[in-house]
Amino acid sequence: MSTASHSTKSKKNSSTADQPTIAGRFAPSPTGPLHLGSLLAATASYLDARSRHGHWQVRIDDLDLPRNIPGADELILQALEAHALFWDGEVVYQSDRLDIYQHALTRLSDRLFYCTCSRRALRAHPVYPGTCRQHRTPRPDSALRIIVDNESIVFSDLVMGRQVENLSESVGDFIVRRRDGLIAYQLATAVDDGGGSISHVVRGSDLLDNTARQIFLMRCLGLAVPDYAHVPTLLNNRGQKLSKQHGAPALDISKAAGNLARVLMALGMNPPRQAAGWKAAELLAWALERWQLRQVPRHNSTVQR
Ligand code: GLU
Ligand code: ZN
Repeated sequence: MSTASHSTKSKKNSSTADQPTIAGRFAPSPTGPLHLGSLLAATASYLDARSRHGHWQVRIDDLDLPRNIPGADELILQALEAHALFWDGEVVYQSDRLDIYQHALTRLSDRLFYCTCSRRALRAHPVYPGTCRQHRTPRPDSALRIIVDNESIVFSDLVMGRQVENLSESVGDFIVRRRDGLIAYQLATAVDDGGGSISHVVRGSDLLDNTARQIFLMRCLGLAVPDYAHVPTLLNNRGQKLSKQHGAPALDISKAAGNLARVLMALGMNPPRQAAGWKAAELLAWALERWQLRQVPRHNSTVQR
């Protein structure tokens, strides 16, 4: 009967589907146009996912409302396309997912407390001193913090190697919902990267010291933890991270292949001299064939203007 042959077939298919899906993401904040530093993170996560035939998602981290610049998301997406960094599916906006983060907060409620400490009072304490741990009922004008454990979080970063962090010694109880009511970066990122929807988080090394907090939140929420790879950060010639804050210029998208060649070099690759004259898609295809996470250097690179 045809159903019999059908069922054999679907069995075969389902064994392929059982293999873990590789999925990466690029998660820019819409605080300005793409610059060389963010192109590096985008390219690294793209190459990492695509070289293993995985999915690559773009997520706009737009929860920090005061920092959002209207239209920056569109500029970022256009710049990605100009560099032939095409993503799968719909772009995810964190601002569309507020009820999911709210639900996560509810699930964490046993560990949460309302912190009314002023910024000023905390200035002398790089590690939160636990002042408000007893505040278990809502208070006006308060941030929500989560109680951390006094134990080491250990993970093996695919570029930076073994990392060990005891949150009670490094940051203490940290903020999951800000005093202004906005969901904190750590919580939203943990919810969106955890649980198996993202298998590999590849991002700039400037974010490495957030990772233990995000893993901690995933564990508290019972979410699967992805693999992490933190790639070098680009520095300007004053040794500062290339960022909007330090005046990194927007990318000239008419020079897409040249831009890609520069980030590939920072990622330990050696694109041919003439690559700047290629099409972006050609250079990406060249890089895809050669991409090896273990060739990515640990050190940051300085870019000359
Ligand atoms: N949205 C964050 C940023 O632009 C990055 C988030 C992440 O990759 O975890 O710095
Ligand atoms: Zn407090």
